[in-house]
Amino acid sequence: MSTTQIAATLYQLQQIDLELERLILEQQTLIRTLQGDSTLAKARTESRIAQQQLHSGLQAQKEAEWALEELDHRLKLLEQRLYSGSITNPKELYAAQQETQHLRAQQSRQEEMTLEVMDATDTLREMVKQKSEALQRAEEAWTQFNASSVQRGEQLESKRQEVQAGRDQFAGSIDAELLKRYETLKRSKQGRAVSRVEQSSCQWCRVILTPSELQRARVSQDLQLCGNCGRILYFDR
Ligand SMILES: [Zn+2]
Repeated sequence: MSTTQIAATLYQLQQIDLELERLILEQQTLIRTLQGDSTLAKARTESRIAQQQLHSGLQAQKEAEWALEELDHRLKLLEQRLYSGSITNPKELYAAQQETQHLRAQQSRQEEMTLEVMDATDTLREMVKQKSEALQRAEEAWTQFNASSVQRGEQLESKRQEVQAGRDQFAGSIDAELLKRYETLKRSKQGRAVSRVEQSSCQWCRVILTPSELQRARVSQDLQLCGNCGRILYFDR
């Protein structure tokens, strides 16, 4: 095997390794996406808060209505007494009339307040409806996304296994010493042991090779390394 052929073989192995790396990275990204979906979490929280607010609103409405009923009742009793003619003492009569006026004013204020609380409850009820619809949409989108992601995950895994098997077979055909040299260099060179020569430059570090370096890369009996980045030079033309 010529030096160029050896460099070509190692370059091909590196291409397979890069493909494997890409597949594994995509798998990892997919797993991270599946673990945390912020849109769904946000929709859940907002829906829960809206329900809590409605619950408090309904409680406030009930209390306002009870207070109003209580006032109505007191006023009714007082008016019955007032118009039954049972109060004869003018001082007592005056006091009862004063109290009636006072209760009527209170009743009117309470009616206003009750209406305001009811308005607020209507708004909260509408909010709960909107938020629970949004949650439902988010859940549907999630289910759909989840199903397609699981499918994509399965595709990635089977592709990875296929590439890995191909890699094992290809690596098995390479001389053990050479393979060891490639692996060692790969570890110390950020996963790229081989660099292709393109337009008289090392593709990895872009350093321009001298004519004698180019000549050696083409014809030398030994693998040539880039004088700058130390990677095996692969000259394909
Ligand atoms: Zn280089």
